[in-house]
Amino acid sequence: MTADDELQKIPGVKLVHQAPLDRYTRFGIGGKARVLADADNEQALAEAVKALKASGEPFTVIGGGTNLVVSDEGFPGVVLRYTCPAIDIDGITVHAAAGVVLQHLTDLTVARGLRGLETMTGIPGWVGGAIYGNAGAYGHSIHERVKSVRYFDGTGIHELGNSACQFRYRESVFKLRKDWIVLSVTLDLDAADAAELSATATGILNIRNEKYPPTMRCAGSIFKNLMLNDLPAAVRAELPERAVREGKVPSAYFLELAGAKGMVEGGVRVATYHANLIFNEGGGTAAQVRTLIEELKRRVREKFGFELEEEVQFIVPFAAMR
Ligand SMILES: Cc1cc2nc3c(=O)[nH]c(=O)nc-3n(C[C@H](O)[C@H](O)[C@H](O)COP(=O)(O)OP(=O)(O)OC[C@H]3O[C@@H](n4cnc5c(N)ncnc54)[C@H](O)[C@@H]3O)c2cc1C
Repeated sequence: MTADDELQKIPGVKLVHQAPLDRYTRFGIGGKARVLADADNEQALAEAVKALKASGEPFTVIGGGTNLVVSDEGFPGVVLRYTCPAIDIDGITVHAAAGVVLQHLTDLTVARGLRGLETMTGIPGWVGGAIYGNAGAYGHSIHERVKSVRYFDGTGIHELGNSACQFRYRESVFKLRKDWIVLSVTLDLDAADAAELSATATGILNIRNEKYPPTMRCAGSIFKNLMLNDLPAAVRAELPERAVREGKVPSAYFLELAGAKGMVEGGVRVATYHANLIFNEGGGTAAQVRTLIEELKRRVREKFGFELEEEVQFIVPFAAMR
């Protein structure tokens, strides 16, 4: 039994049948979802999840699709997006729904003279995805500004304070609890000079646009960077000082030494200027991305004796179910 009849009745839910997921993800890769369901308010989302659970149909949640590799087979159930774009600013406190485009939030807070998100400029995707993966750049992550996160656990709405969100580098409790859906976040920012924030943001965006041209089909960094203290002692002993930044070593450092730059697998390629950036040149497949990832991991494992961990998330037919 599919949940379509129930989903169709919910105000605020829109369905696309046989949705080509390559069009909903920045990598431009992946097969079809049986249904893509967009819910634009909390009640609609909650009702949709309850209908899906009652039907027993598999479902998974995505946001802006900028950190995803979708399987070539697509997803046989319902891909759900919470699309609410609400933002409310009260002094230095900002409430943003999970469906807000992160760049809109960044631009708005910068324009209002609120410090805290300006280094996030150029990180694509939505607020819910940013909380899930504790997105960040230029030495800062979103968790530094999070006061609380509201989420739906399949039966009710709950709120967690910052420490209960278990934020770490590119990690949060929401990565551990894939049955929880982020609804909104409250952020504490600081009053600052808008022109100064804007100059910082513009500078960052210019650099980022060179590394990630806006039309590049990719998911940002493929692998997480490495915590210096987690690396094998023998590897640490050989590291030049310049390879360490804020207690981390970019995985690109090891990938480059393993000869990753410019590697090609069908329609996907490692950038010649950045060893931790895989992009779809056109016609790339998820299988090719997977093959390239496995080869890169193998090379680093054999050369350095540790395992790289993917930052990118995967939507596969039978694994990512809630
Ligand atoms: C060009 C480029 C540059 C990038 N640069 C950076 C960077 O500098 N720093 C950085 O951290 N990331 C970067 N990324 C990765 C990506 O932009 C971030 O991870 C982003 O926060 C993902 O948001 P999204 O809405 O696109 O999530 P999606 O890709 O749609 O989903 C990612 C994961 O989040 C989960 N998720 C999404 N929404 C919700 C929700 N509401 N509730 C629960 N789970 C949810 C999904 O299930 C999935 O597992 C980059 C990506 C690209 C393409």
